[in-house]
Amino acid sequence: MVAPGITGRTRPTKVKKRENAQKRKRDDVDVEKLEQAVQELEPKTSSYKDFTDLPLSDPTKQGLKSCHFAVMTDIQSKAIPLALQGHDILGAAKTGSGKTLSFIIPVLENLYRLQHIGPDAGLGALILSPTRELAIQIFDVLRKIGRHGHMFAAGLLIGGKSLEDERQALTKMNILVATPGRMLQHLSQTAAFSVDDLKMLVLDEADRILDMGFQRDVDAIIEYLPKERQTLLFSATQSRKVSDLARLSLQDPEYVSVHAEDKSATPKGLTQNYIVCPLDEKLDTLWSFIQASKKSKILCFFSSAKTVRFVYESFRHMQPGIPLLHIHGRQKQGARLDTTAKFSSAKHSCLFATDVAARGLDFPAVDFVIQVDCPDDVDTYIHRVGRTARYNREGRGVLFLAPSEEEGMLKRLEAKKVPVELINVRQKKRQSIKDQLQNMCFQDPALKYLGQKAFVTHVKSIYLQKDKEVFKLKEYDLEAYASSLGLPGTPRIKFMKGDDSKQKKQASRQTIEVSDSSEAEQETEKKAKPVRTKYDRMFERQNQDVLADHYKKLVRDGSGDGPSVADDFIGEATANDGHDDDFMAVKRRIPANDEDEDFGADDDTAVAPGGRVVHLAGASQPLVIDSNRREKLLKSKKKLLAFMDKGKKLIYDDEGNPHEIYELETEEQFKAKGLPEEQRQRFIEAATEVVKAADVEDKAAAKAKRQEKLRKRKERERNETTEGGEQGVELEDAGEDLLANFRADAEFTDEDEEADEQPKKQKKEKKWFQSDSEDDERSKKRKKKAKHVVEEPETLEDMEALAAGLLG
Ligand code: ADP
Ligand code: MG
Repeated sequence: MVAPGITGRTRPTKVKKRENAQKRKRDDVDVEKLEQAVQELEPKTSSYKDFTDLPLSDPTKQGLKSCHFAVMTDIQSKAIPLALQGHDILGAAKTGSGKTLSFIIPVLENLYRLQHIGPDAGLGALILSPTRELAIQIFDVLRKIGRHGHMFAAGLLIGGKSLEDERQALTKMNILVATPGRMLQHLSQTAAFSVDDLKMLVLDEADRILDMGFQRDVDAIIEYLPKERQTLLFSATQSRKVSDLARLSLQDPEYVSVHAEDKSATPKGLTQNYIVCPLDEKLDTLWSFIQASKKSKILCFFSSAKTVRFVYESFRHMQPGIPLLHIHGRQKQGARLDTTAKFSSAKHSCLFATDVAARGLDFPAVDFVIQVDCPDDVDTYIHRVGRTARYNREGRGVLFLAPSEEEGMLKRLEAKKVPVELINVRQKKRQSIKDQLQNMCFQDPALKYLGQKAFVTHVKSIYLQKDKEVFKLKEYDLEAYASSLGLPGTPRIKFMKGDDSKQKKQASRQTIEVSDSSEAEQETEKKAKPVRTKYDRMFERQNQDVLADHYKKLVRDGSGDGPSVADDFIGEATANDGHDDDFMAVKRRIPANDEDEDFGADDDTAVAPGGRVVHLAGASQPLVIDSNRREKLLKSKKKLLAFMDKGKKLIYDDEGNPHEIYELETEEQFKAKGLPEEQRQRFIEAATEVVKAADVEDKAAAKAKRQEKLRKRKERERNETTEGGEQGVELEDAGEDLLANFRADAEFTDEDEEADEQPKKQKKEKKWFQSDSEDDERSKKRKKKAKHVVEEPETLEDMEALAAGLLG
């Protein structure tokens, strides 16, 4: 495959002017003739077999010839004549049946006949592809056909290059092959890029481009495009959704579906099998299969990038004897291109892939497509398996189905005319790699980490599957699966409703536990606390630095003691660690849900075996905790409030009798005390007396304090004068450090205490560019300030002055 990026003209640009002029003349004549011939085509009544049967320009004919394309495929013979005449087309044909040429030829021809050529003509055709790899492949075909005399400027717009570089070339392009994201980016950010004169829009893998994932981008792109244009849609799984057609403003589109009447929706040369294989046997089976097919080209599909990475890394370590490759959406573009190029040219190789490689890619001569993880839906199945048995060649697909997936998936496949046949794995030939994986995970924390991530994402992807008739999360043996990956325990997974992180925060209580361990198991786990060995600790340790935050939130090792990050994240609803034991003791049975009313006072008899009794502070009756769920309720202060007695505040008189805080006196009692104004006066006088007395005491105390301080200072000054210079320096140093500590801690403590703490507190480290003299100057400055600070603050003003001193 060629290097991606905007390319220049498809032909050397240094063509002599005279030659150009002559050519233009020829073209004019040519174009007129062609146009007439195209109008005379009768696509609906006549059938065209060879490319030479069609009125095509010389450069296109040359291109086809050079690629040895002579006879058209079904979709080509039906779609190309219609497209040449300018019809909008919805083209559906099986994988590998030559859809690419069905739109490349009309694009070249229609623009040629319109003479939409050269830098001033602007963009004439836009071809959108869902993946970069497919865009590159389409561009490659375009180049191969177009480089024999066409003068179009064609470009590839898939990201991975600087926008600025692309911008320069973009405005001169006549044909662009692009991914939707990058295209939109340029449409919205590159001012000089005009698409006003666009004549053709092509969507390859149209159903994918029109589905949810691309909806926003594609809708926005369409907004920019002129409504008067020709639109071509191609896919192996084409839908005729009216809404989609409306979105694209298609005008009386021709539905060209060449294999609609076929018995099967998949290519003829394709043999399709499935095996029933529990999750935990998948890797064993895959390994054994690869071992038995070392002389083949194999493409294996998994549901997530993380699984791809784990399987790739672990199998690579085990030296399978066949070159392994891997591709997924999280790789850098360079790596992805490298991989596709390598796999294309390889004779024997095994490529582990996510669905990024499921659509459109035309790897030559793939022998097997193994779908290790069940595809999301039948369309995905068809596209994945379509990477083999392309253009009349043979190939074989093997689908791994977990027992619980079998029935549902077979039903779906049958409904969409996909014939698959059950085969059995020869148990004798199946080799277990579980021990090897376990060893590797033990020795290599990074691999174990990958395994955990793979496990979590896999389970999550099952959970998120739309088709619940196929994917029944509860039916999978997740523990066995985790151990088959070589993991020491089953990572626990909590799923949040909704994926948005904001929602996650808010929805702390809306958690669904997907761990297979039931309540009962967790309780027995808790009771029989296993002894932690050195090895357990080793396993626990390895992730300390590697685990990303978000991952910590998802995964917890079952062996963790104490609350994990996940607990903090998910909130009280899920906490179930042993340390709850001393949280409180029980006596009343807490209802598991709010409707459950049976918590009676003498319910001691209701204590289940293993239940505990808790005395709640503030509750007159004890609570009974007899299940893990109830244990969890205990952690919610809000819930507990329901079990507390309603409190009321009392005050006690001198005799020790309790009174309510406000006891209302009767009107008579109030009147007996005299007129209201007199009562007020009496109260004010009494209160003034109290305040005066208190003031005298306060003043005396403050005076004593001041005197004591003065005395201390004088004593210190006396010491200074008697003990001489050296001591003075030390004291000043102490003052400096004191200041430092003040700064650091913003605490107001006694000088003596500070001095004691000095050795404990670290001096600020010197920066590498800070000289000793600078240091000295600073300390001098600090000393000056220190004098201002050492006095103990007494009043609010003192503190303010101190703070101002520190700041200033
Ligand atoms: P699709 O897009 O339908 O999956 P492609 O356009 O990728 O199929 O074509 C599949 C393969 O068939 C390609 O390798 C292509 O070179 C080849 N091919 C397409 N059309 C012809 C033809 N008319 N004659 C010979 N080979 C063809
Ligand atoms: Mg294709």
